[in-house]
Amino acid sequence: MKLVLLGPPGAGKGTQAAMLVERFAIPQISTGDMLRAAVREQTAMGIKAKEYMDAGGLVPDEVVIGIVRERLQLKDCKDGFILDGFPRTVPQADALQQTLADLGKDLDAVISLQVDIEALVERLTGRRSCADCGKGYHIKFDPPTTADICDACSGKLIQRDDDQEATIRNRMAVYHEQTAPLEDYYQQAKLLKSVDGMADISVVQEQILGILQAD
Ligand code: ADP
Ligand code: ADP
Ligand code: ZN
Repeated sequence: MKLVLLGPPGAGKGTQAAMLVERFAIPQISTGDMLRAAVREQTAMGIKAKEYMDAGGLVPDEVVIGIVRERLQLKDCKDGFILDGFPRTVPQADALQQTLADLGKDLDAVISLQVDIEALVERLTGRRSCADCGKGYHIKFDPPTTADICDACSGKLIQRDDDQEATIRNRMAVYHEQTAPLEDYYQQAKLLKSVDGMADISVVQEQILGILQAD
């Protein structure tokens, strides 16, 4: 199963990807997670990427394309993968096609999560994640059993630096300018499957599984 999850910040890509990982035993490739790891490790790439991420802009195409190209060549991708947060621009989508063609692979589907803008802001401001294992939560829609503590590993829940309202607005604008055109791109490639991302987390998951089974 070779999938792309498409949708604005807060649409539920990471949440749905984590559930699909368990179901299909294929890796989640989140460029956001990979970039945040590089920021934490203070690699040269991480230091540069942080400026763009803090401003809510996109990290340059050549940087993310390079990361994904390397990642897709690792052995664990041989039976499939879930791309979460990549591609985000038309050049990234073109590069993905080229990389997959080089590897003799093809995408099975691009799942596009549709969510209203007001809901996105509420999702992002309430988003938390575990500092130790990365598991995602929402203070209202997907709360941990004990406030601020991870159910899976008892780690501390933290808020991302870029989940502040001013940065969120910028990220939405960037999404509309640079990423939304990918809906047409994948529609034309006959890969696009739209899903109502406003439903509860488990209902969205069922819709996605329904699409994948019908494929
Ligand atoms: P979200 O899940 O809220 O959409 P991500 O974790 O995917 O956010 O990305 C966080 C930030 O990392 C983005 O705002 C951007 O700066 C950078 N980033 C992630 N993926 C990409 C990408 N494919 N191209 C460019 N920048 C990216
Ligand atoms: P993305 O990766 O697309 O930026 P996330 O998966 O991180 O989005 O979800 C953003 C926030 O919204 C998280 O706090 C998550 O728990 C919550 N969330 C995800 N899906 C839903 C949903 N269907 N209904 C309500 N909240 C959701
Ligand atoms: Zn944890």
